[in-house]
Amino acid sequence: MMTRTLATFYVFAAVAGLLAALDPGFPERFRWAMVALSASVLTCAGIAVRWGPRWPRNAFHLAVGSASALIVVAILVSPDPATAVGAATLMSFIAVDACFFFSLPLAWAHMVFAVGGMVTALVLQGDVPTFIAVALAPIIIALGTVTRGLVIRASSASRDPLTGLANRRGFDDSLQELLTTTARTGERLSAVLLDLDHFKQVNDARGHEAGDQVLCRVADVWQHELPAGAVFARQGGDEFALLLPGLRGAEGLALVRRIVALHPEISMSCGVAEHQAGETAAQLMRRADRALYDAKAAGRGRCELDGGVACQLALDLVAALTAGDVHVHVQPIADTADGTVVGVEALARWTHPELGAVPPEEFIAVAEQNGLVAALDAHVVRTACAQLAGVRTARGEQLTVGVNVSGRELTDPHYPARLQALLRETGFPAEHLVLEVTETLVEADSSTAVEALHLLRATGLKVAIDDFGTGYSSLSRLDTLPADVIKLDRSLVATIDSSPRRRQMVGSLAAMCRALGLDVTAEGVETAGQAQVLAAIGCTFSQGWFHGRPVPIAELLASSAVLPATGAPAR
Ligand code: C2E
Ligand code: MG
Ligand code: MG
Repeated sequence: MMTRTLATFYVFAAVAGLLAALDPGFPERFRWAMVALSASVLTCAGIAVRWGPRWPRNAFHLAVGSASALIVVAILVSPDPATAVGAATLMSFIAVDACFFFSLPLAWAHMVFAVGGMVTALVLQGDVPTFIAVALAPIIIALGTVTRGLVIRASSASRDPLTGLANRRGFDDSLQELLTTTARTGERLSAVLLDLDHFKQVNDARGHEAGDQVLCRVADVWQHELPAGAVFARQGGDEFALLLPGLRGAEGLALVRRIVALHPEISMSCGVAEHQAGETAAQLMRRADRALYDAKAAGRGRCELDGGVACQLALDLVAALTAGDVHVHVQPIADTADGTVVGVEALARWTHPELGAVPPEEFIAVAEQNGLVAALDAHVVRTACAQLAGVRTARGEQLTVGVNVSGRELTDPHYPARLQALLRETGFPAEHLVLEVTETLVEADSSTAVEALHLLRATGLKVAIDDFGTGYSSLSRLDTLPADVIKLDRSLVATIDSSPRRRQMVGSLAAMCRALGLDVTAEGVETAGQAQVLAAIGCTFSQGWFHGRPVPIAELLASSAVLPATGAPAR
């Protein structure tokens, strides 16, 4: 706002100069000097617009002071008294600038310098009557003072009366303004939400006055330390918000951590988010709020960057994969007819050193977002295939192994070759490996993924459609997807022994799959009742806690459910 005001005055002063210079009555010998002067003032306006928002507040003293000096010189060199008075009226710009930009004492200092200089210059000019020079002074001072009153009144609606910072309204206005600027310039912008920890206890124990002092101290420290262009606001209560134009999220985080450390007696939690292209103000602040929530959940007194927790988790996952700390568990899959274990599903397990067991859905999402899923899935395939090659079912056949494939992997054109290489490396027979893919993932990028599945089936592998019945499963896809097995999601199985309609529905689905030459595996089978119904309606396989929970491979090999690899003891 200061930059714009300054630039506006520069532009109008230049226009005034040019209009005067173009007038035929203007003294010829000064005409080009005036044009040059106006052009340089116009250049100053351009500089202010371009770089002004980055200037520290003190730079405006220089801008206003030098403009005053320039006007004084213009008065002194004016060819006649009328031009001198005309130039003197430009001092009104100075008065308005000073009263708008600076605190009252500093504004007065500027006005005394400017008006004093003007009166002296007019008198020295020689032809201007002294009474005119003196009369101009109060007019100009009145303009500045009244402007100041009006500005204070107008801005109080967007100011917090206690700290003098912008309030929520002021912050929202600034955010909108900065978003418009960043959309035009492509400049970075980070937003921060800050919250005092246990502020209520300060108010309760030491009274509201002490609470107010804490808020004012925070405002003082931060205002002093923040770079030019930053917007610091009190959003209400003990919540503050900050906008950092020109800073990336990580830079914002570093700055915020440094300033928080300057008031160790006041504990604060902060959440930082960097603006992403096309993001609205609400979306940006929601992410900053999420980071703040993470900071509080992690024990308060911390500053977090949105996405920072996931980033750290990704780094920890890389370390775990390298150190072999991602383990593979297997869950038995039984033939519904007689309960014989005919296969297993391999499931990844990761116990984080600090966070404990991380749910697979969570770390697989992190792996997918950070390009780690290929390494993760390859690790699971390699471990399961190496340890289960040659392991037989009670009937003496090779145990079937199901592995989950991320949709991202299927769309990688090198995936089929990588999988073949893993099979060769581990000696696991292709026809006993089942790739579990979810229907929505196949649909997401149908052509590449479906082609990969065709290619892999041609080499003998089997394909299972996982979690069928969730999301947007469509029956028409059943005969178009290259699949051998349908895995019915556990939500379909849960009420199968209590709801006749559900039993009828799953029975019909199983019959249809059979007719299409597809095997059906029911997931999430937890009770004997469910297992019985599934056998009666002709589901081929059954998987769930009733048959066994996921266990380490060694535990499966130690059980009587499987026979060790021929020629080599399984244990
Ligand atoms: P999924 O492939 O549908 O795996 C079955 C999930 O159901 C497993 O959860 C398993 O522990 C759980 N489950 C099995 N029986 C029962 C039961 O009777 N009742 C209940 N309530 N749950 C049962 P988990 O291990 O948490 O895995 C979740 C998902 O994570 C898997 O769903 C799979 O999509 C994914 N996932 C697991 N391991 C891997 C992996 O190595 N690679 C990839 N890409 N995804 C994996
Ligand atoms: Mg699965
Ligand atoms: Mg499943």
